Amino acid sequence: MFDFLESAKVRSLEKELEEARQQMARASAGFEERYARLEGVLCGMSEGVLAVDAAGRVSYLNPRLEELFELKAGQALGRPQMEVLRDAGVNALLGEALKGRQPAPRDLLVLRPAERTFMVQATPLGAAEKPTGAVAVFLDVTQERRLQAMRSEFVANVSHELKTPLTAIRASLETLADGALEDPGVNRSFLQKALRHTERLTLLIDDLLVLSGIEDRQRRGQVEAQGRSALAEAYAAAASLVEGRAALRKVAVQAAFPSGLPEAAMNLESLTRVLINLLDNAVKYSPEGGLVRVEAEALGAAGLRVQVQDQGPGIPQADQLRLFERFYRPDKARSRELGGTGLGLSIVKHLLESVGGQVGLNSQVGQGSAFWFILPQAGPSADRPQAAQAISQEPPR
Ligand code: ADP
Repeated sequence: MFDFLESAKVRSLEKELEEARQQMARASAGFEERYARLEGVLCGMSEGVLAVDAAGRVSYLNPRLEELFELKAGQALGRPQMEVLRDAGVNALLGEALKGRQPAPRDLLVLRPAERTFMVQATPLGAAEKPTGAVAVFLDVTQERRLQAMRSEFVANVSHELKTPLTAIRASLETLADGALEDPGVNRSFLQKALRHTERLTLLIDDLLVLSGIEDRQRRGQVEAQGRSALAEAYAAAASLVEGRAALRKVAVQAAFPSGLPEAAMNLESLTRVLINLLDNAVKYSPEGGLVRVEAEALGAAGLRVQVQDQGPGIPQADQLRLFERFYRPDKARSRELGGTGLGLSIVKHLLESVGGQVGLNSQVGQGSAFWFILPQAGPSADRPQAAQAISQEPPR
């Protein structure tokens, strides 16, 4: 006999089952969507992410971590993380997180596959009393830390460089105050010493302001040296400034520029500054009666090459690479004696690089130095149609 009651029960059960199935399907679709979203975020992160289970075995790593540690997820999953990353610092951080603690982020120097500094943050997963695993996030701070170290080194250098002339000025003034002022045999020389060091201080501060101005504008995305100028014009301005020193040391400064040189893609003030720094060094390091020659050539699409050649002592190979660093001077005492600040060449490099130019040198001890730079040529100018003039420069006398 057909049992209506039973059949109704079966139908209601079927309906409940169908509803449950639909609920599960919705939950599963929601879960998949959330999972895909999470996976998308983890894959797009610029930080490396590594997750381990309660036993410290790798349960997840994102593509950035694979890239940073040159790993393949397939080979790493399921293996103890210490075997995979082989880093005691990471191991210690994850160990703490697996005990339910939240260690403070720490800078770790990782040596393999390349030397890098990571800020690593480890966090327990699941309940704090009994974590089911832990996750570590690796932020690559190599560049930031390098810059911070450079900045502190720079501040230390600046303080030292400022202190030297200040100490000399103070000592001279103290000697004068202690009675030398009344001694006509020495008072002038102490005053002149104080004055000389005041000039040094001024030069140093001027160079520091130039450098920080260039960097400040670079940070704001502005190109310090952008513009256009004719080499001969910049050279004339620079040569007139080094003339005095050159005459004093009986050094001849000659320039020979071919006609038809294109304009340089650098403003007049910056190009003049580049030339002043190179000419001033060439004159400073020249022997008495020496010759400084400035030459230029057009390199077609590659721009304009300028070279300042002197007959000075030359520069040892070992120092050449670091010469453009701030305050790097192979012979500090000699540089100070000649009134140098140790910033000239780094200003030159900064200015040239800011317009896509280059600077370098050819030098051998005992055979003089040739500092050269390449500047892009200025593009066609709407307001100065005949900008690239034929210029032939006679040596300044
Ligand atoms: P400084 O103010 O000391 O001249 P720079 O940055 O201009 O600083 O130059 C750095 C160092 O490079 C100098 O101290 C000097 O040792 C070396 N140098 C620069 N130009 C020359 C040159 N023409 N001949 C020999 N050495 C040079």
